[in-house]
Amino acid sequence: MVQTLITNLSLAELANLMESWGEPAFRAHQVWGWVYQSLASSFEEMSNLPQRLRQSLAQELYLTSLVPIQEVRSANSQTTGTSTTKKVLFQLNDGKTIETVFLYHKGTYHPGIGIVKKERQTVCVSTQVGCSISCPFCATGQQPFERNLTTGEIVEQVLYFARKKHKITNVVFMGMGEPLANYDATLKAIRILNSSQGFHLGARHFTLSTAGLVPQINQLAKEDVQVGLAVSLHAADNALRDKLVPINKRYPLETLIEACQNYINSTGRRVTFEYILFNGINDSVKQARKLSSLVTGMNCHVNLIPTNPTGNKRFSPPLPENAAAFQMELEHHYITTTLRRSMGADIHAGCGQLRSHYNCEEPSKILCSISSKPGE
Ligand code: SAH
Repeated sequence: MVQTLITNLSLAELANLMESWGEPAFRAHQVWGWVYQSLASSFEEMSNLPQRLRQSLAQELYLTSLVPIQEVRSANSQTTGTSTTKKVLFQLNDGKTIETVFLYHKGTYHPGIGIVKKERQTVCVSTQVGCSISCPFCATGQQPFERNLTTGEIVEQVLYFARKKHKITNVVFMGMGEPLANYDATLKAIRILNSSQGFHLGARHFTLSTAGLVPQINQLAKEDVQVGLAVSLHAADNALRDKLVPINKRYPLETLIEACQNYINSTGRRVTFEYILFNGINDSVKQARKLSSLVTGMNCHVNLIPTNPTGNKRFSPPLPENAAAFQMELEHHYITTTLRRSMGADIHAGCGQLRSHYNCEEPSKILCSISSKPGE
């Protein structure tokens, strides 16, 4: 008999299934509450259900599918105590592996002002095994695409940390894979985690990061759950972006920016542009100026991220003074920015890095065709 992973089901689907066993509708609500509010990890724990129902549930369904096989914690965070980064490598039912990152940021409180920054407990989830976008600077991009994750495999990454008594405040789709290339499973996972009868994480607390799949961005703009959208820009002209984010050849910058503007208009939400800074490749003031003219007038925020080295020597972090000059140029054009300090580099917390470390891939196998003329 083929068992179903319970987190693959919506509440309506669970209710239908249980109804087919002759159970009244309220039983599905009870089970849903056990899974998403009480965070049960076995059917046996569901103490207000009749024993025979717990047995049927255990025969037909299963509750956990991810097996943690490696867990690493960022060392620098242990000393400061203000943030913690934990990364877990999970084995899936078919033996394939994915990674999930948990980030804890302590809130800040100022006497007289009150809470300046709220505490955040974020899970960064994967949506695919490997990735087909093949960005040359990204560790996952060097791994072949193997398969999409199911809804349940996405949901369970969040539940894993919630079951460890973390009060999850944010879920970001910035782990391995391209979430918009696994659209249906990703959206269903968001709906399940957003459900007011279950995990109840508000739509504002989800951020979906994409390399720029234009039709799916337009589709997302029409959904009833409106999540935060982050777009991996990394270059402000097509020639360079074709090399850094190869999907740009199919959906060039003009169409991507138009889709982002459409997303802003439809949802009323600000879009985040992620721009990884690579030394000598895309970090000049000239490029900052190009980026300014590309996004000027948009309701957006630019997140500048010094690259996390992945073993490919061609992509190294910018010099601090160049990163600062880049940021200043954008701010000069009234574009709001954040210059992120890289978190968790010591635990291979960049996209796909723990997995490739675990698989012991040779960095020399990583190919790259970027020409890095200084100042371009
Ligand atoms: N495919 C999606 C989501 C996964 S990657 C996307 O491209 O947005 C999540 C983010 O991590 C992206 O912005 C990606 O460009 C970034 N990333 C990948 N490799 C990185 C590296 N070596 N250093 C810093 N950020 C990296």
